[in-house]
Amino acid sequence: MLTKNVIYRKYNRPKDKPLFMKPIQIFITTAIFAISFASNAQQKVVKTEAEWKKQLTEKQFTILRKKGTEYAFSGKLNKEYGQGIYYCSGCNTPLFSSETKFDSGTGWPSFDNHIANNVSFLEDHKYGMLRTEVVCNICDGHLGHVFLDGPKKTTGKRYCVNSAALVFKKNKDN
Ligand SMILES: [Zn+2]
Repeated sequence: MLTKNVIYRKYNRPKDKPLFMKPIQIFITTAIFAISFASNAQQKVVKTEAEWKKQLTEKQFTILRKKGTEYAFSGKLNKEYGQGIYYCSGCNTPLFSSETKFDSGTGWPSFDNHIANNVSFLEDHKYGMLRTEVVCNICDGHLGHVFLDGPKKTTGKRYCVNSAALVFKKNKDN
């Protein structure tokens, strides 16, 4: 009589991977987070539209948050030539130095450079042309545009900035 041999195979269940990271992995992950946090010292300012509306004047809100443009020669900083620093009117980040301001004759405050790391650039395709938009690096507020027809002796750049996007603080010793 033929007996059927039933072979019971031992099923070796693979060991479950531990749910938690090994201490060394935890250490490495924490270190990476700590380093990236420390190097990203510039913390973004993020607010809701309602919060911005409450904080800013109507003009500032239209320009900074809605990418508006003030009328040429209407801004109070167009002809400001005192020594000092121009800060973002949204988040108080220093954006431009009076050292870089020049009279472009366009009717808007003009600079040939920005304070390092404090502005970013975006492509702007509005009105069928490509322009480079300048925004505050901290609150992403719209400041104006940068063009390549600035003073050739320095950077060749012309940062065309809205007065309402800036707050000018004169140096104390001037
Ligand atoms: Zn800002």
